[in-house]
Amino acid sequence: MAVSSISTRPEDPPTRPARAPRRPRGEGQWALGHREPLNPNERTKKDDDPLNVRARIETIYAHRGFASIDPADLRGRLRWWGLYTQRKPGIDGGRTAVLEPHELEDEHFMLRVRIDGGQLSLAQLRTIAAVSQEFARDTADITDRQNIQFHWIRIEDVPEIWRRLESVGLQTTEACGDCPRIVLGSPVAGVAENEVVDATPAIDEIVRRYVGNPEYSNLPRKFKTSISWLADTPYEANDIALLGVEHPEHGPGFDLWVGGGLSTNPMLAQRLGVWVPLAEVPDVWAGVVGIFRDYGYRRLRNRARLKFLVADWGVERFREVLEKEYLGRTLLDGPAPELPGKPIDHIGVHRQHDGLSYVGAAPIVGRVSGGQLARLADVVQAHGSDRVRLTPYQKLLVLDVPSERVESLVTALRGIGLEARPSAWRRGTMACTGIEYCKLAIVETKARGEELVTRLEQRLRDFDADISIHLNGCPNACARTQVADIGLKGQLVLGPDGRQVEGFQVHLGGGLGMATGQTAGFGRKLRGLKTTAEELPAYVERLARRYLAGRQEGE
Ligand code: SF4
Repeated sequence: MAVSSISTRPEDPPTRPARAPRRPRGEGQWALGHREPLNPNERTKKDDDPLNVRARIETIYAHRGFASIDPADLRGRLRWWGLYTQRKPGIDGGRTAVLEPHELEDEHFMLRVRIDGGQLSLAQLRTIAAVSQEFARDTADITDRQNIQFHWIRIEDVPEIWRRLESVGLQTTEACGDCPRIVLGSPVAGVAENEVVDATPAIDEIVRRYVGNPEYSNLPRKFKTSISWLADTPYEANDIALLGVEHPEHGPGFDLWVGGGLSTNPMLAQRLGVWVPLAEVPDVWAGVVGIFRDYGYRRLRNRARLKFLVADWGVERFREVLEKEYLGRTLLDGPAPELPGKPIDHIGVHRQHDGLSYVGAAPIVGRVSGGQLARLADVVQAHGSDRVRLTPYQKLLVLDVPSERVESLVTALRGIGLEARPSAWRRGTMACTGIEYCKLAIVETKARGEELVTRLEQRLRDFDADISIHLNGCPNACARTQVADIGLKGQLVLGPDGRQVEGFQVHLGGGLGMATGQTAGFGRKLRGLKTTAEELPAYVERLARRYLAGRQEGE
């Protein structure tokens, strides 16, 4: 038996005078009385509700220009309206951590448009295309959260951009910031053959009631939501997820998960074991956000996501607080949903429940342009549809296509760079914004991703397995590093001549529940598993060839 080596003999002299026990510092939880801001981010939010910055943009900044913007607005509150300053061109990743924010930033902005549920009408698509061409140097990226991101936006143009977006029902409200971000939804909500309940009314109601609502605009950190009948979003990586399930007595409803988030300290959401009918989803959602607002940790930014609270409390206590303090009633116990055996990305041609078809097509790593989106709108209209959906895999869908027009549509999409029958490489590769525009980035991602797909299509054209490759420009994992077959985390690595160059830490074998049955998990990060960015295509090719050589029957 092990014995402690610390002596407890009374004659041992004390080494130093005993201190009074330290008072616990707390985690900055409002519900426990910590209302004084404990860090600069909390101070900024307390000094002025970030939603108020819109009035200053419209009345002051858009008229007086970039130099007139208050620094607390520039690097803080503007995010609540979807605006981030973008990285000054030409600053390499080695200087990201050493330069001051003002040295890193350009006088242009990234502007994120939230497209809750990924649902776009033709009028909205045309408006996005026009804004891109007129105000954003033809940039437009489909993000892995169903947003559209513009770059090169001038503050002077923001009010006019809002006017145009809002005239067709789009908004940038709370597209970034410590607030409820875009609500992910199934890209086939309302049309899928195997959908029992369309979650869109709940998503719309949440956006109508709570987005831009000052009661929910000061959260400890960002808050990510997914609501869908099908498991076709990365639901476990969200702060809250509601996933379709049939209750044996009460019928269709939603299974509630909380506490997911990747970035550093990745955690997967956990089931609370409750069943929520569609009509109650907005109230339950507000209860969970209320817990986060009031009990979330505000002292340290890197402990502020809901996942840390869920990890500390456990799901039983979380459910109890939700029921007693926020809903005033108990929730019904519910069964676990059945999860598909592999990710559902909706690429290709599929039947809708009404006999029409939808076609899922892939740009490369989500990169499109305003011109391409304008041509897409023409193609969609010419094929008798007026609905497009964005997916959380940086892809898009055209809905409502009559079967006799499908092949013509596939050809027309190919003609504008959108491939409905893509290679495994193009289909499975995603990339975050990276060093081209992101101030936190260490490496280039979009161009590397395009190069990777092109090279692998040349070298391994007939690779026939599903594969996911996620390129991230830094540890923040915006493109979900940890849940890909090959997750790539941007960092500086040693090149062949011993100097630091752009490269990636490799995570292998990750996946979400939809990919791995009930056993979602993170990819393994091994210390030696690194590659330079230049070597990346050859590195992935070697991995793929090794996999092909060693795979089992049926794998
Ligand atoms: Fe920027 Fe890093 Fe997020 Fe990529 S992962 S978009 S580099 S913060």
